[in-house]
Amino acid sequence: RDRPFTMLEIFEKSVTKYKDKEVLIKGNESLTYGEFFLKVNNLAAVLQGEYGIRKGDRIATIIGNSMEFPIILFASLKIGAIMVPVNVRLSKGEITYVLQDSSPSLIMMDQVFRENIDVSKVDESILVDMEQNNLYQFDYSIKLKEADIDEEDAALIMYTSGTTGRPKGAILSHVNIIHNLMVYQDVCKTNATMKTIIAIPIFHVSGLIGQFLHVFYVGGTSIILEHYKNDDYIEEIIKHKANSLSNVPSIFMMMQSSPKFKKYSFDFVTMVGYGGAPIYKETIETLRKAFPNATFQNVYGATETASPTTLMPREYPVEKANSIGIPSVVTDIKIINEKNEECEVDEEGEILIKGPMVIKGYWNKPEENENSFLDGYWKSGDIVKKDKDGYFYILDRKKNMINRAGEKIYSIEVEDVLKNHPEVEDTAVIGVPHPVYGEQVKCFIVSKTLNEKRTEEIRDYCGNHIARYKVPAIYEFVEDLPRNASGKVLKHILK
Ligand code: ATP
Repeated sequence: RDRPFTMLEIFEKSVTKYKDKEVLIKGNESLTYGEFFLKVNNLAAVLQGEYGIRKGDRIATIIGNSMEFPIILFASLKIGAIMVPVNVRLSKGEITYVLQDSSPSLIMMDQVFRENIDVSKVDESILVDMEQNNLYQFDYSIKLKEADIDEEDAALIMYTSGTTGRPKGAILSHVNIIHNLMVYQDVCKTNATMKTIIAIPIFHVSGLIGQFLHVFYVGGTSIILEHYKNDDYIEEIIKHKANSLSNVPSIFMMMQSSPKFKKYSFDFVTMVGYGGAPIYKETIETLRKAFPNATFQNVYGATETASPTTLMPREYPVEKANSIGIPSVVTDIKIINEKNEECEVDEEGEILIKGPMVIKGYWNKPEENENSFLDGYWKSGDIVKKDKDGYFYILDRKKNMINRAGEKIYSIEVEDVLKNHPEVEDTAVIGVPHPVYGEQVKCFIVSKTLNEKRTEEIRDYCGNHIARYKVPAIYEFVEDLPRNASGKVLKHILK
C-alpha cells in the first residue's frame, strides 16, 4: 500500500501531521491545520444531522475564493457527499443550467451572489446563505458518522470552463484526484515549506487541485485572494514570501504590467507554474528574468483529467521553453491523425489521454460519454505534436483551428507572432467565413498605440515571421478581449 486511497486519508494525515501549521490565510484571518480540522468536522455534522445530507447527494457552492470553500469541500467528502463548485462568474442563466443539471440537495452560497440564482427554478434544493447561517457555531450533539468511502466514489462534479460550448460536469473520483496530487508533489518536489497565493478561481481544477489540494497534501500554506488584482497579488507575495506561484498565463501577463513587479526582487520564489491556456514565448522570457531562482513549469491538463497530464520537467533545454512538457508517470498519451492512426514524431494530431486521473464520464451526459472516449482514452479536442525527445507542443484547439482553402492555420501560432510585436498588449485570432477560401484569418488587437491606419505595417510584420497565407486578412482593434474565469479568451463570442 504505497498511496492513500481516499481524500479522507489525505485529510487525516495532513491535519494530524501539521496540526499547528497555518493551512489557510486570507487578509488578517488564518487557520491552522488543527483549527481547520475542527471546522470541517463541525460542518460535516451539521450537513449530516441538520440538513440530512447522505452519501452521493450533491452540495453545490456558489462561493468565490474564501476560507469557507475548502472547509465545505472536506466536510462534504467526510459524509460522502459530492461537492459541485459553481463558477460564480457565470450568468444567472448559466448558473441555473449547472444547478438544474447537477440537482443538488443543498446550495451553499455567498450572499453577494444571491441575485444570480433563479430560486424558482431550483426549488427542490435547500438554499443556505453562508452569512445568515453561522454554520460553524452550530452546537451539534449527535456524533458525526463518517461515510464509508471507496476510492472510485465521486468526490466532485466540476464543470468544464465552457470555452467551446455548455459546461459539462466532469465526475472526479477520489482516486482521480489522488493520483494527480502525487504527480504534483513528485514533479514539483514540493514539501511543507510550500506557500502559494490562490488568486485564480478555486472553483476550477487549477485553483482547487493544482493549488489548494496540492498545498494541503504536502502540508504547506495557501494564501487566498478573493480576486486577482495586480498590486494586492504582488504585495501578498512579498508579505508572505510566497515561494510557489501558479497561475493561468493571463494573470502573469497582467502582473508584468504593474510598476510593483519591477520594484521588488522575487529571489525567494522557487517555482513558477502556468497552464490552463497557451502562454506566449514573450511572457515566459519575462518570467525567467523576474524569478531568477525558480523552476518554470508549464502544466497541460483539463477538468476531465483532474489537472495535469503533461508537465515540464524541472530541468529542460531552453529551446523547448514553449513545450507543455512530457507525460506524467500515470499518463498514457496517443496522438491520432484524421484517419485515427497514431502520429509519427512531429506529426500533428489530436491528443488522447488515458490514466487513473481521467474521469470515467460526465454527469448526466450519455451522448458526450459515448463521443468523448475512444478505446479508454479521453478525446481532448486539442491538437498537439511530439518532438523526437518526447516533448509535447500544443498547437490549437480543434475548434479554433482555421481552415483556409484546405490549409490549416493554428490560431496560437499567429497569436504568438502578433504578441511579440512590441506594441501589442493582447491579441486573439479566429477564422471567419470567406466566400472562396471557406475561412480567412481575423485578428483582434489590444494596443494603446496601434490602430486601423497601421494595419499594413502589422501585416508586413506578420509576413516576416509566418507564411503569407497565415497572415491575418482582417484586423480589429479592441479595448479588451472577452475572457472567462480561467483566463481563456472566449473565441465564440469574438466570432
Ligand atoms: P469546455 O470543455 O467546456 O470547452 P475547457 O476545455 O476550456 O471548456 P478546461 O477543462 O478548463 O475546460 O480546460 C482544458 C483546456 O485548456 C485544454 O483542453 C486545453 O485546450 C487548454 N489548456 C490547458 N492547459 C494548457 C496549457 N498548458 N497550454 C495550452 N492550453 C492549455
